[in-house]
Amino acid sequence: MSWLLPRLLLALGAVLLGFVVGVSALAVTGVEPLSMALGTTAGVAALLIVDAVRGHRLLRWLRGQQLENAPRDTGLWGELGYRIERAVRDRERVIERERVELEQFLSAIEASPNGVIILDVQEHIRWCNRAAADHFSLDPQRDLYQRITNLVRAPAFVAYLQAGRFKEPLVLGNGRGPGTLSIIVREYGEGMRLVLTLDITERVRAEAMRRDFVANVSHEIRTPLTVLAGFIETLHSLPLTAVERDRVLVLMNQQTQRMQTLVADLLTLAQLEGSPRPSPDRWVALDALLLRIAADAEALSAGRHTLKLKPETQVELAGVESELLSAIANLVTNAVRYTPEGGEVEVCWRRLEDGSGELCVVDTGLGIAREHIPRLTERFYRVDGSRSRETGGTGLGLSIVKHVMQRHGGELLIQSELGKGSRFRLVFPAARVRPHSDAALGDEAAFGGAALTAGE
Ligand code: ADP
Repeated sequence: MSWLLPRLLLALGAVLLGFVVGVSALAVTGVEPLSMALGTTAGVAALLIVDAVRGHRLLRWLRGQQLENAPRDTGLWGELGYRIERAVRDRERVIERERVELEQFLSAIEASPNGVIILDVQEHIRWCNRAAADHFSLDPQRDLYQRITNLVRAPAFVAYLQAGRFKEPLVLGNGRGPGTLSIIVREYGEGMRLVLTLDITERVRAEAMRRDFVANVSHEIRTPLTVLAGFIETLHSLPLTAVERDRVLVLMNQQTQRMQTLVADLLTLAQLEGSPRPSPDRWVALDALLLRIAADAEALSAGRHTLKLKPETQVELAGVESELLSAIANLVTNAVRYTPEGGEVEVCWRRLEDGSGELCVVDTGLGIAREHIPRLTERFYRVDGSRSRETGGTGLGLSIVKHVMQRHGGELLIQSELGKGSRFRLVFPAARVRPHSDAALGDEAAFGGAALTAGE
């Protein structure tokens, strides 16, 4: 009630003014009623004028943008101005806080990898984030307030929006290539719609790969199983001679081995995918690995090829011995299997300028046509299925090699020419190659200088 006292004082002042005017008028006119009327009018007029001036000032401030403070009057108008200003400032603070919160909220949606579009009743775009703009090739500024069906014309999308049945998401090619989008629409408010888009290209690809993989494994296992079932039936129902029986058992053994090899390769792949990256400080002597591999390859070749499989590398590789053995052995046995009798298979090693090391497996065999090369490391990809199976292949060998190399920070490079032969290169990063510790004692200095030509 701080305004009450000044208000009373003002009224008192007006009464006094009226009194003074009345007394003065009486002295001049000598007419009492006229003097009283003049005095009262003067007092009321004074009150009204002061109120009108203060009220006008406050009203002018209110009509403006309230950037300055409200008029600092005393009394009723002053307090009124002060309280209105406080309410206005409080409201401004709330609006500012809500604006900041809205901005943060929109930035969070903007950062989302999923697309978000807000549509009004007429399907005009009211807001959309960058991901949605990318998914539909929209411009988040220019396309605002445009009808979405004018911009995204995929018939399935238009029909989905128009049908208004949004229980199931719509799966759509994303228009920017072979990608796939999952689109969900939610209705809210009065006819507003929220369109959520999710890029599921990878998921779709992974599902297709998984399906293919299961189908391939089933096929690979079913074939030897069918053959085995046939042989069992034969053994059961036909009176075979001892020789015939032995022959059937040999064939059965072959099929069993085929399945064993396949399961072993599948397990190797599963292990490679599931285990942590090989540690960079477990060193494996390459020459010892090559000796073991050469022994197996010589047995496989049985003298049909010229083999040069034991270069003196005198290096160690950092990694998992069994994985490195498996990768190199796969390449060497492939070279023997896909090289006709009389051909040559060679393993060579060299250090490259940047310190990395390269192991090559070169053959003079069948070679591979250019179009097959990019797909060779896919699981179960075979150029010539019957030759692969005849020679005990599973179609998983190069896939294993690629995985091993990736896990060791290296890569598998393939060069081949149909009818002339192939060169498979395993490149190991510098950090995973060092001189063999025995060799290092005497040869370390020489190794550094001769590194570029070693094995060439
Ligand atoms: P597979 O068990 O069938 O040999 P891989 O994954 O090891 O499976 O090889 C995939 C395909 O690549 C093989 O089926 C074969 O057609 C081809 N290939 C691999 N190595 C060679 C090579 N040294 N010469 C010719 N073709 C090869």
